[in-house]
Amino acid sequence: MRPGLAVVVGERLARYGFGEGHPFGPDRHGAFLREFDARGFSKRARMLEPRDATPDELLSFHTPQYVSFVRERSATGQGYLDGGDTPAFRGVFEAAACVVGATLNATQAIMSGEARRGFVPIAGLHHAARDRAAGFCVFNDCGVAIEQLRKSYGLKRIAYVDIDAHHGDGVYYAFEDDADVIFADIHEDGRYLYPGTGRSDETGKGAAAGTKLNIPVPPGADDAFFGTVWPQVIAHLERFAPEFIILQCGADSLDGDPITHLRFSPAAHGGAARDLAQLADRLGHGRVLALGGGGYNRANIAQAWTAVVESLL
Ligand SMILES: [Zn+2]
Repeated sequence: MRPGLAVVVGERLARYGFGEGHPFGPDRHGAFLREFDARGFSKRARMLEPRDATPDELLSFHTPQYVSFVRERSATGQGYLDGGDTPAFRGVFEAAACVVGATLNATQAIMSGEARRGFVPIAGLHHAARDRAAGFCVFNDCGVAIEQLRKSYGLKRIAYVDIDAHHGDGVYYAFEDDADVIFADIHEDGRYLYPGTGRSDETGKGAAAGTKLNIPVPPGADDAFFGTVWPQVIAHLERFAPEFIILQCGADSLDGDPITHLRFSPAAHGGAARDLAQLADRLGHGRVLALGGGGYNRANIAQAWTAVVESLL
């Protein structure tokens, strides 16, 4: 059996944030890392550094026009990258490319056999579309990882599971008609929370119909509620036997997040990671890559993400 868990952290990854005091501030990385160190996990995990994604890697998911647009806004640091949620700052291109590179380093560690699972705290930027930024997400590292797993490693069926409070619209719509991306997303009902998408009848289009599972849950849903819907996710993945599982484990679905209304505890996140690791083991490959995702209460970030790390260790 291959060794345990590769974790990618580093100062350059921490730079992806929109300023002190912003919900997606650069202090999110430290909030995780302090708890991760305090629990002794840095001694048990294989620690990796981030790197910048190459232009070719970014272009495997994003359009050339959009990549150029981010580069231009990054040089001036002026304006927004979308309609008003995601501000530009000087160096935002490099910071966003570093998030993608961090996710790809973890992907590579798993595919090379250097590690069995992976975790990247500042990653899982699931709102970015192929041609635009959205909701604090500049480049969609989840989407780039899916494309790279197919292009560089020849995988066919890849699962993307998302338990962030927000719907993973950037991943869903990019692969809505792609039958080889097995998608499952538990999120706060779009009638009450950004981005408003992810209805249960959004199950994929054309040949991909039935490969996508969207489970909107009501505001206030707790661990007991999570426990009633989570088995659908495992059953959905088992039906398609994916060769690699990505988990976007956003901590904003925990009780006490300042911008959402769900009430999960870290046990939901830890349990999800454990179940997916066991599923990956049953499928014979063991490959699970967890990406931090959202989360705007710093204590929740620390608890949810270390619960995931503990399960993957
Ligand atoms: Zn979120």
